[in-house]
Amino acid sequence: MSSKKNITCSFCGRSKDEVNVFIAGITGHICDLCVAQAENIIEEEQKQHAKSSLSKQLKLLKPAEIKAKLDEYIIGQEDAKRTVSVAVYNHFKRLLHPAKENESVEIEKSNVILTGETGTGKTLIARTIARMLEVPFCIADATVLTEAGYVGEDVESVLSRLLQAADYDVEAAERGIVFIDEIDKIARKNDNPSITRDVSGEGVQQALLKLLEGAEVHVPPQGGRKHPEQKLVNINTKNILFICGGAFAGIDQIIERRINRSAIGYQKGTAATRQEDDLLSYVSAADLRTFGLIPELIGRFPVLTHLKPLDSDALRQILTEPKNALIKQYVRLFELDGIALKFDASGLDYMVEKAIDLKLGARGLRSICEAILRDAMFELPGSKTKELTVTRDYAAQQFEGSDAKNLRVA
Ligand code: ADP
Repeated sequence: MSSKKNITCSFCGRSKDEVNVFIAGITGHICDLCVAQAENIIEEEQKQHAKSSLSKQLKLLKPAEIKAKLDEYIIGQEDAKRTVSVAVYNHFKRLLHPAKENESVEIEKSNVILTGETGTGKTLIARTIARMLEVPFCIADATVLTEAGYVGEDVESVLSRLLQAADYDVEAAERGIVFIDEIDKIARKNDNPSITRDVSGEGVQQALLKLLEGAEVHVPPQGGRKHPEQKLVNINTKNILFICGGAFAGIDQIIERRINRSAIGYQKGTAATRQEDDLLSYVSAADLRTFGLIPELIGRFPVLTHLKPLDSDALRQILTEPKNALIKQYVRLFELDGIALKFDASGLDYMVEKAIDLKLGARGLRSICEAILRDAMFELPGSKTKELTVTRDYAAQQFEGSDAKNLRVA
């Protein structure tokens, strides 16, 4: 037994009376101090590894690179693309450099609100960002959400969707992007919330705050309502980027009132003569508040930008230029059947005119293309015709004969 007395740690050489515990291996011993130190080293290594693999996974692109990628898919909307590129860049910088405990500066999340009419590219921007960064992405509609306990979906269902998009990988979901559409529709309905309970307006805003605050949220993995027997998954929303979109119809008047008010006394008159488009680019947090979003919610969205209505030049570019432009898609579809599809300039002009008519922004373009090409897509495959050129006459004849002409919104 004398050999047991002389045991020393094979790593640091300490003897038995210098340490608390020895763990025996096949050829040596290790003391508790060395175990603790080894544990620290492993932890540090793992952190470094996680950080480098996270930066690989997150593809930390510079703002200009993010914007260049957005340019491939989104026509115009320069201000919005620049603002979002910076917001996303800052968001991921924050992810890669989490605040240390004793650090006083903590970078806040750069959640974004995109304002702009329907079909101007709000969802497209959010979707493109998510695809570019290869992070889970989901779209939720604010109008179906209600305060817990009322008919409709709990706000947690938003995270269920994100979890599904992440294939139930909680860690991936925790750095995903959530796009909440129609955020303007949950504006406070009246100025005096005590009259009736506003369960789909202010109530939802309050409920959403919980998701935005960076808390642990219990999420039903399959979505739907929470019920007592259900197994819930914990998702920490601290690093989830929220992007909200809304048309905010009528906000131009709010902006105008604000600007005119503050202009009184000096530049009287200039605000009133500003173009309507121009006006919307001045949208501020104060306007969202007047519109009916609660200040706490607005405070969680430090980035606010506006998407412009698309004019005919932009619509025309959207048809032909983006990487996955509609015209390119249809040409490819026909090509697969050995048919050469062409559009002449007058055909394209017709489509653009109809899109402006329908007032659905670029969203109307797809329905218009479908309406114009539906007969051809049905009849041409397998027929002798191997070429089709869409002229204004052809387009008009097909479109007027379809239901799409009734799509127009009032
Ligand atoms: P919303 O602003 O209502 O969220 P979306 O982003 O869903 O509009 O746009 C609908 C469709 O219209 C998109 O899928 C895309 O094909 C097209 N689109 C809209 N805006 C643009 C744009 N600025 N550039 C390219 N395509 C656009």
